[in-house]
Amino acid sequence: MEKRRFAELGLSPELLKAVDKMGFEEASPIQTAVIPVLLTGRDVVGQSSTGSGKTAAFGLPAIEKVDPALRAVQVLILCPTRELAVQVAEEMAKLALFKRGVHAVPIFGGQSYERQFRALAAGTQVVIGTPGRVMDHMERGTLRLDKLSMVVLDEADRMLDMGFRDDIEKILSAVPEKRQLLFFSATMPRAIQDLIGRYSRDPEWIRIESHAQNAPQVDQVYFEVDRRSKIEVLTRLIDIYDFRYGIIFCSTKIMVDELDEHLHARGYAVDRLHGDITQAQRTRVMEKFRRRGFEFLIATDVAARGLDVDDLEVVFNFDLPNDAEDYTHRIGRTGRAGKSGRAYTFVSGREIYKLQGMVRFAKLKIRRENVPSLDQVEEARENVFFEKLRSTLEAASFRAQDRIVDRLLEQGYASTDIVSALIHMMTSAPSAPTPEPAKAAPAYAAPAPASAPAWVEKRSAPAAKASAASAAPVSAEGADPAPVAVAPRKAKFDRSGKTGREPGFTTIFLNVGRKHLVTPADIVGKIAGVTRLPAGVAGAIDLHQRHSLVDVASEHTAKILEKMAGVRVKGEALKPAVATDANRAEE
Ligand code: ADP
Ligand code: MG
Repeated sequence: MEKRRFAELGLSPELLKAVDKMGFEEASPIQTAVIPVLLTGRDVVGQSSTGSGKTAAFGLPAIEKVDPALRAVQVLILCPTRELAVQVAEEMAKLALFKRGVHAVPIFGGQSYERQFRALAAGTQVVIGTPGRVMDHMERGTLRLDKLSMVVLDEADRMLDMGFRDDIEKILSAVPEKRQLLFFSATMPRAIQDLIGRYSRDPEWIRIESHAQNAPQVDQVYFEVDRRSKIEVLTRLIDIYDFRYGIIFCSTKIMVDELDEHLHARGYAVDRLHGDITQAQRTRVMEKFRRRGFEFLIATDVAARGLDVDDLEVVFNFDLPNDAEDYTHRIGRTGRAGKSGRAYTFVSGREIYKLQGMVRFAKLKIRRENVPSLDQVEEARENVFFEKLRSTLEAASFRAQDRIVDRLLEQGYASTDIVSALIHMMTSAPSAPTPEPAKAAPAYAAPAPASAPAWVEKRSAPAAKASAASAAPVSAEGADPAPVAVAPRKAKFDRSGKTGREPGFTTIFLNVGRKHLVTPADIVGKIAGVTRLPAGVAGAIDLHQRHSLVDVASEHTAKILEKMAGVRVKGEALKPAVATDANRAEE
């Protein structure tokens, strides 16, 4: 598809400067095709895939045409959701940076009318909003559209899906006759063609074909993985490539919750989105994810719709998507705008046939790889540690410890041995207070075997090998039957140790014990999952017959007690309390 330099598209220097500042090197195909047509004043119907740069395609000409001296709304952009409205507004503000006197604001439900009213009264020229809120403002008289010269329907198909048809029609009938009308939509169902026919004047139809080739910058790989090993394989891939920012797609809400709990327990910074999550919570999670407040978002397709994030390093299809279209949609979120991204897809059992069907139908460029072995994981962790050490040395960002070093040298130790001993101390589990092996849950007792040192991680959250799945061997259904021990993130404490010894920790009492068949993993997983604190807040755990004592970080004790109350573990409703001499002695 043809692409051109922005300078060839007829835009003014102010806008070219903004585009340059945003780091855009060349116009995308939809931008190349749409911008010159819009500058002539024609109506346009544009069709291209997610992430193809539609916002700037309509945004640049829109800003070009705004008269800064006229303090009235001249451009109205309708978006299906508030998240999108906010994103489009942000992009518009960036594009308008060097064109003085041009302002863009989003208006959407949930935000105070007061604030929106002030922005509108101040003479903002570009308004971005959801159809519902725009209608409200029109009815209240706070949004006047008599000077409007351009209306954009962004993601028109989704707006209709969401039931905005009436509002859209009312808005379109209320705007001045002489205006440019733009439709952008991924699909062109009847209803949209209808609207176009009734409200557009001789529009130019621009369609950018999106085959699988539209994502050549996404490296697509699939793994044949036994269902039970998916979590293990997922964490290996994250560790090996040291991914920091991505989405993990699951097919059900239950799977999202489960995975969220497991990854939390293993010390990954994750959060989740699915259909049962309230709008307020959803907004919070999305916002946090966009500013990289956590590393991985676990989501269903539906929940992730409308989430427009850039710069994802990776998309995991933890569960296979339903069809090729969902697949392309999911992976389109990585490798945007010329950057390379990765998409990893897990298939188990007969799903391979479904994937093959998708590959044939949509000509996906996806290749098979073997599940990475534990050795590869260790090597990768070692590399991370090595890099960290090297860059500390390089930056000289450490305090000289001459006194200790000199003392050791004086005692005749070789400097290489001193360094090795230090690395050993940093990378192997600290010697725990003598555990009681008989009582301790076996899954926890053993520190990492000597052959697999648990390399100190860059990721700070320490975690235990909390999930049952991590103990399960990985059985790839393909050619790599690599037997697998466990690759735990380094645990700060041996959780089977005695409680009540670690400074900064408080021992709490839980009314579940061995009789209820709970394991320390269950407890850590529950605490991390319910409180959403990193798994490191839990330290040593003593399991007794009917109760357990758990060390938790003192600063979080109150929160943990509050959140855990009533939560069910193995069918028992928890009644957590701070451990006392009385309840310690129970049994
Ligand atoms: P769409 O609306 O088609 O889904 P967006 O307009 O949201 O796509 O653009 C996706 C991402 O690509 C945004 O981060 C945007 O800033 C970036 N982008 C848009 N055009 C270009 C370009 N020409 N070069 C580089 N990045 C671009
Ligand atoms: Mg868009």
